[in-house]
Amino acid sequence: MAWDFETDPEFQEKLDWMEEFVREKVEPLGMLGIHPYDVKNPKRNKLVRPLQQEVKDKGLWACHLGPELGGQGYGQVKLGLMNEILGGATFAPIVFGCQAPDTGNAEIIAHYGTPEQKERYLEPLLENEIVSAFSMTEPQGGSDPTNFVTKAELDGNHWKINGEKWFSTNGKWADFLIVMAVTDPDAERHKRMSMFIVPVDTPGVEIIRNVGVYGQQDGSESYVRYTDVRVPADHLLGEQGGAFAISQTRLGGGRVHHAMRTVGNCKRLLDAMSRRAVSRKTRTGVIADYQSVQMQIADSYIELEQFKLFVLKTAWMIDKYQDYRKVRKDIAAIKALMPKVYHDIASRCIHIHGSLGVSNEMPFVGGLIGSMVMGIADGPTEVHKVTVAKQHLRKYRDVEDPMFPEYSLIHRREAAKAMYDPLGELSNAMEPAE
Ligand SMILES: Cc1cc2nc3c(=O)[nH]c(=O)nc-3n(C[C@H](O)[C@H](O)[C@H](O)COP(=O)(O)OP(=O)(O)OC[C@H]3O[C@@H](n4cnc5c(N)ncnc54)[C@H](O)[C@@H]3O)c2cc1C
Repeated sequence: MAWDFETDPEFQEKLDWMEEFVREKVEPLGMLGIHPYDVKNPKRNKLVRPLQQEVKDKGLWACHLGPELGGQGYGQVKLGLMNEILGGATFAPIVFGCQAPDTGNAEIIAHYGTPEQKERYLEPLLENEIVSAFSMTEPQGGSDPTNFVTKAELDGNHWKINGEKWFSTNGKWADFLIVMAVTDPDAERHKRMSMFIVPVDTPGVEIIRNVGVYGQQDGSESYVRYTDVRVPADHLLGEQGGAFAISQTRLGGGRVHHAMRTVGNCKRLLDAMSRRAVSRKTRTGVIADYQSVQMQIADSYIELEQFKLFVLKTAWMIDKYQDYRKVRKDIAAIKALMPKVYHDIASRCIHIHGSLGVSNEMPFVGGLIGSMVMGIADGPTEVHKVTVAKQHLRKYRDVEDPMFPEYSLIHRREAAKAMYDPLGELSNAMEPAE
């Protein structure tokens, strides 16, 4: 029987190497004021390229890809364990060739792209010679894609795109954007939109501004306007009307990776709050002696372990079924759980650090904002919970219980008596336990 919580020693060695490499060489890059996605900056490249080479030499570059694209074909459990180490070090995903949103964009071009699209966009993307953006959300509607109005119309042998997109992460660093636009307004809900590859220097693409998440000095969430943007007909990605199906392909594995990076972030927070708890002196000892502080440490540990196991089990199911649709409920569940675990652990960490915790000399408030981002980006928590509930309730849809269903104690006692005590000899011997 296979039920194992151990990592095989050979892979554990790789994880150990990663852990030290990220801590010693990659983390410091995040302290220098350069941006991981600024691929045209020679100063950034001078620092990042040798580290990327070290990762390639170790065979750990872009591990989310299949062997046909130069990856290792690792399953989601291994990728999850790797992402746990990458979480919290800003440059780590870039150094390991697995940064969002490029990973998701590469995944869909690899899956749906033509040979020409792969050569022109996928290959340099996989080498991190360029970066990309995913342009789906619109200013007037994010959670509900039926509110999207950006449209693409065939005009001769070109598509002409008009509309506005909001929070297209890394638009300002990107060479191309993957844009979702309405092509078939009268088709059924899931067939109305298509995906396009749009080079960012195409006339009519205008970055109105780059918005920052609170606390960031330099925003890269691009607000993009598309005015009569003409791309050749062969820049349609996948089938016309296929955007919804494509976007589903994009997010399955990515959600597990985000969740495991969040585990990594939370481990750092728990580590920091534990160190603080045993070091901060009071009249009678240290704050770790107070039960109220112990409760916060215990709750954080318990929530983190639960969450990590849930994420790894989900990753294991993806590997087992090789079909994201069969794991939809659990992928949505970990997405919905992630912001809460992150938020609660980040706020305890802040609290236990007192004034230092809320100061700009500690990174913890960033964790709090990060947790909120996790509850919004890639769809708000409510939407994912609805998915969980709908998936869960599927198998109950045909049930129509009477007022006193079979699981009522009345029925269960009657059934038990009929089975074990048809003559009533045991009756009144004792009250049945609930
Ligand atoms: C850091 C960050 C990066 C992002 N990167 C990208 C990107 O690269 N590309 C891209 O296209 N988009 C990106 N997004 C946008 C993201 O996908 C949207 O923010 C998200 O889908 C929510 O849309 P909205 O912001 O318009 O919120 P709204 O849709 O306005 O929702 C606001 C709130 O309304 C409630 N709500 C909405 N719908 C429901 C519902 N069905 N049931 C119950 N409550 C509901 C929820 O409380 C929700 O939080 C990013 C967002 C963030 C924060």
